Amino acid sequence: MKYILKILRGTENNQYFEEFALEFKEGANIVSALLDIQKKPITKDGKKVSSVSFEVGCLEEVCGACSMLINAKPRQACTTLIKDLISKKNNLITIAPLSKFPLIKDLIVDRSKMFKSLKKVNAWIDEEDADDFGPKIDSKTRDKLYELTTCMTCGCCLEACPQYNKNTKFIGASSISQGRLFSDHPIAKNKSKRINSLMQEGGIQDCGNSQNCKEVCPKEISLTESIAKVGKDTTRQLFKDLFSKKKKT
Ligand code: SF4
Ligand code: SF4
Repeated sequence: MKYILKILRGTENNQYFEEFALEFKEGANIVSALLDIQKKPITKDGKKVSSVSFEVGCLEEVCGACSMLINAKPRQACTTLIKDLISKKNNLITIAPLSKFPLIKDLIVDRSKMFKSLKKVNAWIDEEDADDFGPKIDSKTRDKLYELTTCMTCGCCLEACPQYNKNTKFIGASSISQGRLFSDHPIAKNKSKRINSLMQEGGIQDCGNSQNCKEVCPKEISLTESIAKVGKDTTRQLFKDLFSKKKKT
């Protein structure tokens, strides 16, 4: 059985579709289909074209590199099976680069803004925290923290977010959730510093609470719970800051 992979290719301001006819293979996913095209970059009309540029890393939904729009939904190419997308009635699959990040080429986008946002919210354990191994963590907290650590900075949540775009300062759900991970971590000593960083321009206050992010996260991270938790923490922090200012005056 043959199916068609329709790919949005090109660079910013010069995007175009190309269609490739591929033979269905049991167990094939979008990455293996793209690799087949790479071996033989000939369109369904027999035109020889340049091979399609795309990014891929771990092939097991851990690195986040192969995020793209597959039939208009942001998801990972490595875990999207061809068999789930085609049928006797429909043999067309459309893929495109994520639209909320600067386009580099074909299916490759620049997600560096996400990593910059992680820096903004101090999403790491620093020297201040790491002078001992911290207190014991109860199993409920440990399980929740583990869930949050599975974020792979893939960008799907930002792609689905109506508040996020190429020009926005909004850090988005993934960085809010990572901010929560490190501010809630029993090892973290300076929670106020981390909560304050989530209240800066582009922080939690820019979230419109539409909850699209949670629907598309491949890791099923409870992003809206993280947003609600950070929301509560920032309100508490605002009062704390207000009272400490009053005391000083
Ligand atoms: S809740 Fe809505 S506005 Fe907030 S981060 Fe998620 S998708 Fe974006
Ligand atoms: S929170 Fe989920 S969708 Fe967002 S970057 Fe992390 S893994 Fe991807």
